[in-house]
Amino acid sequence: MALIVQKYGGTSVGNPERIKNVARRVAKQRAQGDQVVVVVSAMSGVTDGLIKLSKEITALPSEREMDMLLATGEQQTIALTAIALHALDVPAVSLTGAQAGIVTDGVHTKAKIRNITPQQVHQLLDAGNVVIVAGFQGETSEGQITTLGRGGSDLTAIALAAALKADLCQIFTDVDGVYTADPRLVPGARKLPEIAYDEMLELAGSGAKVMQLRSVEFAKKFDVVFEVRSSLNDNPGTLVKEETSSMEDVVVRGVSLDKNQAKVTLFGVPDQPGRAARIFRALSDATINVDMIVQNVSHDGGGRATDLSFTVDKPDLLKATHVIDGLKPGVGFKEAVADEQIAKLSIVGVGMRSHSGVAAKMFDVLAHEQVNIAMISTSEIKISVVIQLSQGEQALRALHTAFIG
Ligand code: ADP
Ligand code: ASP
Ligand code: MG
Repeated sequence: MALIVQKYGGTSVGNPERIKNVARRVAKQRAQGDQVVVVVSAMSGVTDGLIKLSKEITALPSEREMDMLLATGEQQTIALTAIALHALDVPAVSLTGAQAGIVTDGVHTKAKIRNITPQQVHQLLDAGNVVIVAGFQGETSEGQITTLGRGGSDLTAIALAAALKADLCQIFTDVDGVYTADPRLVPGARKLPEIAYDEMLELAGSGAKVMQLRSVEFAKKFDVVFEVRSSLNDNPGTLVKEETSSMEDVVVRGVSLDKNQAKVTLFGVPDQPGRAARIFRALSDATINVDMIVQNVSHDGGGRATDLSFTVDKPDLLKATHVIDGLKPGVGFKEAVADEQIAKLSIVGVGMRSHSGVAAKMFDVLAHEQVNIAMISTSEIKISVVIQLSQGEQALRALHTAFIG
């Protein structure tokens, strides 16, 4: 008898028929004698709809109240999934994140899991139930409801698989696995049979929303091998696991496009020690994640001022501009300009460690497409550039053709 954690995302539970489909799949697995823990997302569109409702009331709602609101999305789905299993005569019990023992820190809307004490899950499984856990949510040790960041049901599944020492963790979604690029944007993208944690991490951090970034970090840290596959067919999926030596043979495993970033540029920042520290400390105190940073000598500063650009997630832009406005008198920059019309384009592969000329080729391809590069950042296994949003998809396809075929 194996213990299996299965996660079903928003599209996979998007309507009553889909929920019944999930129930049938789970029932089949259980009929093979396995214990099954099911993690579900909110039905597709529900989380976005709740966010939209709140924004119709105010632009910057309280983050505690947003967690209270957003956690309701997953609670609908757990109950509906349990009801669908009952209709198949399968004993099933739904649990909120808190009831499943998921304890987080208090950073509302992007809380981190501190620990998991899944006694109730074990008891219910031992009593013969399928246990259905609400993804994306937890509770602080003081009993406050929190959420784990967008796409956070992936993290719930992987963290539960680690805590329960599950034999298998499966992420069911609306594509057959992890592809060389988002198959919705690149028709020629190919499904990968396997991918290294580090590659999946870089892709997830570069806009490939097929897996939430933090869930992959967690999987790597706790050695949770997991499979990404479709909830709508039985095709084999993609195994995400530790790197093997043969993986280095491929230079670029995947390309990705992140349209969810915005750029802020501060013009005329005094070129003195401590200014950057003040800016990024204030952003960090406001729990805003900064991704890329570029600093240039300012044109009009005569070398005594710099221009500083950085990127943040689009939903954090308003909060970031508030923080930056508050810093203007103290830091003494001239002007702050926000640009939402950008995209981050990345190529990823562990083979980049042992191959040269990859950046040159990437920039050649972009030049050929008349794409201007606004920012560049690299890691050992990734090159990212910030470009104009309107050119994003065309550039993504050009890079896929050049590096993957
Ligand atoms: P779920 O609701 O199941 O969590 P998501 O919408 O979060 O599903 O993630 C699945 C989507 O990720 C796919 O529909 C696909 O458009 C997108 N995606 C982006 N990059 C990739 C990639 N490299 N491989 C597969 N899917 C990708
Ligand atoms: N419902 C949440 C979201 O839309 C979490 C998830 O789907 O994983 O971000
Ligand atoms: Mg998702």
